[in-house]
Amino acid sequence: MSNIVGIDLGTTFSELAILNAIGKPEIIPNADGDRIMPSAIYFDEDDASLIRVGIEAINSRRLNAKRAVRWIKRHMGDTDYRKNIDGKDWTPVELSSLILKKLKQDCSAEHGEIRDAVISVPAHFDEVRRKATMEAGALAGLNVIGIVNEPVAAALYYATTRKVSGKVLVYDLGGGTFDVTIMDVKGHQMDIICSQGDHALGGIDYDNKILEILEKSYRDKFKAELIISEEDRAKYEDEAEDIKKTLSRRDVAKKMLYGTAGSMRIEITRKMFEEAVTSLMERTDILVEIALEEAHLQPSEISTVLLVGGSTRMPIVSQRLEKIFGFSPETSVNVDECVALGAALHAGLVMLREKPQEVAAGVASGLKDINLVDVCNHSYGTICAPIDKETGKRVIQNRIILHKNTPLPCEATQTFYTVSKGQNAVEVTITQGEDTAVEYVNKIATHKFELPEDRPAECPIKVTYSYDVNQRMHCRFEDVESGRTLEVALGLNKKGQMLEENTKDESKKLAGSKVS
Ligand code: AMP
Repeated sequence: MSNIVGIDLGTTFSELAILNAIGKPEIIPNADGDRIMPSAIYFDEDDASLIRVGIEAINSRRLNAKRAVRWIKRHMGDTDYRKNIDGKDWTPVELSSLILKKLKQDCSAEHGEIRDAVISVPAHFDEVRRKATMEAGALAGLNVIGIVNEPVAAALYYATTRKVSGKVLVYDLGGGTFDVTIMDVKGHQMDIICSQGDHALGGIDYDNKILEILEKSYRDKFKAELIISEEDRAKYEDEAEDIKKTLSRRDVAKKMLYGTAGSMRIEITRKMFEEAVTSLMERTDILVEIALEEAHLQPSEISTVLLVGGSTRMPIVSQRLEKIFGFSPETSVNVDECVALGAALHAGLVMLREKPQEVAAGVASGLKDINLVDVCNHSYGTICAPIDKETGKRVIQNRIILHKNTPLPCEATQTFYTVSKGQNAVEVTITQGEDTAVEYVNKIATHKFELPEDRPAECPIKVTYSYDVNQRMHCRFEDVESGRTLEVALGLNKKGQMLEENTKDESKKLAGSKVS
């Protein structure tokens, strides 16, 4: 029986966990013996076939920063991003697959074949980013059996290893992303209520605030720039992160700055840092507030606040949460490792559900009684043109079919009508977003659905969307009269754009046939 694996593919660090013989998740150290591996890549200058991943990449990037890649997760789903190395354009999916490949390779060396895996993603990741993550896994040679939201994975690990009950708020501030998730926990029954997040808010933004202080101090003293090359930037990014971490332990951090105009000593206090990051902390506060509103809960109704992600080690995080909730957040689980550990548990649950014969008895018994109900993290809809009751004119708008926070698996159907006489096709658009205004939602796929000729207006078209527990979405468009259907399962093309994968367009097959 092959290993059951969970992977936390993080902005700054990634790690892998497997389920042991009794169904308990364990972090597997990489070939360097490290339990967490920097999500960094370095393309060797002399040997084109050598791609360094992990701590070696971090260390090498000061030699030639142009050949290094960090924080690629921030570009997941960005179809324009490319890293050109020796004439080859690397996409975010390809770069992420190198990180996954390294984790897989190091783990396989000691533990045998690694095939089936669940990869975690931030809860607020949209459809394109989720699919991009799955693609990266497939490119790395993994069979991605599911995707799990990072705070859900962390809470799964937490709830199965600690006694917890009631409404739990998971505050997940990692290297590059922020998520807040509220869930209802009763023993091993976990129901997700809602999630909020920001895919561009994390530890690197806090590092950048320190970097700004370093650059300004140098400029004030020498009237010159501290950073004049990519390599300088790489060096001072590391120094800034180091200062940030020091300030989690002490009130003051001291450094030497070496620029072309001279060197200087600098002292940064925790107070200076906390003032500099006020706007970032306010962004997290607002998202906590929105999540509470969405869950229809007051802070006093939250029983536990669980911290996840390395950036929650900053004392200011606990202080602010204590102010909001009136009690200290829970810090008893390892904030760096709990996502991968929970992802491995999630992988076990997926295997038990889908391929129980491939799960060893010991693993199955370790997972028994755990029940997780996740929700849809976004609203999905379609663009339609109903008649406005007041003006009598048609208005183009987004109509939500699957609502955010609906428990998974879920399915919903709505009926729409053709607009004009003789209309022989309809452009169906799948949207993601909460707004009725078309300009404020993401159009994740568009497809032409051909209809029979010579019909009056107002022919019904049934639109059914479903979302399964493995975060796979499926859309079905049905022309009610003729029975023609268009089925769309979403995937990505080579350029990282959304395409209709496995599209079954029965309309073409049926074109020309008469339906009575
Ligand atoms: P994660 O993505 O959960 O591995 O979190 C990585 C982020 O946590 C990075 O931005 C780190 O700089 C940050 N981090 C790790 N340890 C500390 C610490 N002691 N104080 C502040 N930030 C930290």
